[in-house]
Amino acid sequence: MRTSLDAEQLKNDIVARIEELSGENVYACYQCGRCSAGCPGIEAMDLLPNQVIRLLQMGQVDEVLRCKTIWACASCFTCESRCPKGVDLTRIMEAVRQIILRQNIDHAKLAELPDEMIEDLPQAALVSGFRKLTS
Ligand code: SF4
Ligand code: SF4
Repeated sequence: MRTSLDAEQLKNDIVARIEELSGENVYACYQCGRCSAGCPGIEAMDLLPNQVIRLLQMGQVDEVLRCKTIWACASCFTCESRCPKGVDLTRIMEAVRQIILRQNIDHAKLAELPDEMIEDLPQAALVSGFRKLTS
């Protein structure tokens, strides 16, 4: 039987794994919001980039793992260049994508998607999808 302590430990483990994969310290962020102010992708996001990192700080990993923001992120490094604390949010977004992809769950088969849909998909989702097939 899973206890609430087990669930809490799992969330902490996921945040630690995100830090390990990204090489970043999520707790260094002090929520100034400069990353979100300069992000070119926020119209397609359901969480602002600074909200993603805040949720990780609070251990609310479930919300981060199911958000659209990580797939809408274009890995443009604008947030990293604006951050006064030197937090590279681009790498944190990639680490979250990696954790999801390593679960190896197929939500859609790329080869079966219609061309019109592929044209509208976020590029990060497509690139990550192909990377999953080449690991
Ligand atoms: S710019 Fe850096 S310190 Fe400011 S909210 Fe974004 S990640 Fe946090
Ligand atoms: S790397 Fe992603 S989160 Fe950062 S500014 Fe670019 S699109 Fe936004």
